[in-house]
Amino acid sequence: MDLGTMFDFVVERTPDRLAIVDGDQRLTYAEWRRRVDRLANGLRARGVRPGDRVLIGLRTGEPHATLFLALQKLGAVAVPFNPRLKEGGVAYHIQDAEPCAVVFEPLTCETVLAATRGAPVPLRLFDGGRPPAGVVSLAQLVEDSPDTDPGVTVDDSALSVILYTSGTTGQPKGVPITHRTGLARMFTVMLAHGLRHGEGDRFVGAMPLYHTIGLHGVLLPSLYLNATYYAVRDFVPSSVLDLIEREHLTFLFASPTHFHMLLSQPDFTARDVRSVRDLVYAGAPMARELLQRVVAQMTANLTHIYGNTEAYVGFYFRNAGRKPGALRMGVQSRTRIVRLGGGPEDLVEPGREGELIADIRADEAFAGYWHKPQETARAVRDGWYFTGDVAYQDAEGDLFITGRVDDMIISGGENIHPAEVEDVLLAHPKVRDAAVVGLPHERWGQVVVACVARADASLDEAEVDRHCLQSRLLPDFKRPRQVFFIEEIPRNASGKVLRFQVREWLAQHTPTEA
Ligand code: AMP
Repeated sequence: MDLGTMFDFVVERTPDRLAIVDGDQRLTYAEWRRRVDRLANGLRARGVRPGDRVLIGLRTGEPHATLFLALQKLGAVAVPFNPRLKEGGVAYHIQDAEPCAVVFEPLTCETVLAATRGAPVPLRLFDGGRPPAGVVSLAQLVEDSPDTDPGVTVDDSALSVILYTSGTTGQPKGVPITHRTGLARMFTVMLAHGLRHGEGDRFVGAMPLYHTIGLHGVLLPSLYLNATYYAVRDFVPSSVLDLIEREHLTFLFASPTHFHMLLSQPDFTARDVRSVRDLVYAGAPMARELLQRVVAQMTANLTHIYGNTEAYVGFYFRNAGRKPGALRMGVQSRTRIVRLGGGPEDLVEPGREGELIADIRADEAFAGYWHKPQETARAVRDGWYFTGDVAYQDAEGDLFITGRVDDMIISGGENIHPAEVEDVLLAHPKVRDAAVVGLPHERWGQVVVACVARADASLDEAEVDRHCLQSRLLPDFKRPRQVFFIEEIPRNASGKVLRFQVREWLAQHTPTEA
């Protein structure tokens, strides 16, 4: 089934149920469908055809979700981008995706106008007040268009969306996802959480819609289950807690950074978050300390999820506090752990680390990058997607992700994952955030260097070093040999450390070789 038809089925089931809330705006399923159909008809009248790409520079809100659904009904392809991108990033998306239209809002106005100045994007639409000269108002287009079904037949093998990988290194790559794949991803997440239809669930829409988790892991399940989606345009922790308390929200999928922000609120323990039945985190490892605090201070079950934009994979573990970091296989995927640098047949023994690979015949997997045959050939070999993640399986059959192949630090011949060192650093009460990288060293090949964002200005290098020396988890060869204090650790929206930015920062702050 295509996603537009799925939406129509959903609306017919519960037309009067509250479907989406965004600030003061509250729409039932029937009201929402009328908006979706109006926008679809308006876009069609403006020339948007099946297969056309439409660039979306909107935050996670009703206009974004409505636009996504309207494009699904037209068989057109949504190409959302991170609204915080700079002009060069938007220009790259335009050049790569060749969209026929771009939709933007005040937050993205300056960058989109600058990026489209010389670029051939025929239609520009603006949401939020008076549009700039030469740009069409999204609200006006909706108002002026009929609310009849646009009547386009869409095959489920058609493209639904192109998502750009987070790009912690290099240029972002477009991952084309079909309607069928979108549905498969939605089912994987619903199964992992044990979500059921008709429970009157209320979802916190905090994960961004330009990411597969926000789209396939939160928005689509919310629709499919006739739940209510509460859009969170900007993650302001006190406002998110207000929303949870006021509306008794039941489902929260968030990154480890989001959880850290929520629990760091000074009045957190006085907040009533008992309505939240399911908590989920994914996107990056969660420090052990934080995981234990989430489990102790939020009453709900915490599920740990692992996945990626390309193959999805859908590993999960319910009751994450029981076995921190553990994961079980996803029901729709087939994976292996192979020797680093090896092929799909070079399986490692249980207990040994290797690269995680995933069979791309799974419905939830991509088929290759958008217009990048060389990158595809590098990442997909013999039908397997090489995730670039290092993993191992323990004696009980549970899986653990230990880090990225490329981020691994090799010091004196020993492998060190930044995450295990960061985990120890983050357990210090005066450490707000931390990132670890390897720097070249004449004798050891590489040495571990830490960047720390302080929670307390009194913290100095000697105290960090003492803490690491006393740690029961950190062997001496993994102990950071230098510690630098930084204002803020650069992280992306899923909470991943942007290590190349950390390295850049270090290059500017380390005059001599470490
Ligand atoms: P993206 O394609 O942006 O979703 O990023 C996928 C990558 O995020 C994976 O390949 C992992 O490196 C990382 N990742 C996702 N989930 C987890 C997790 N639960 N634990 C550790 N790393 C994760």
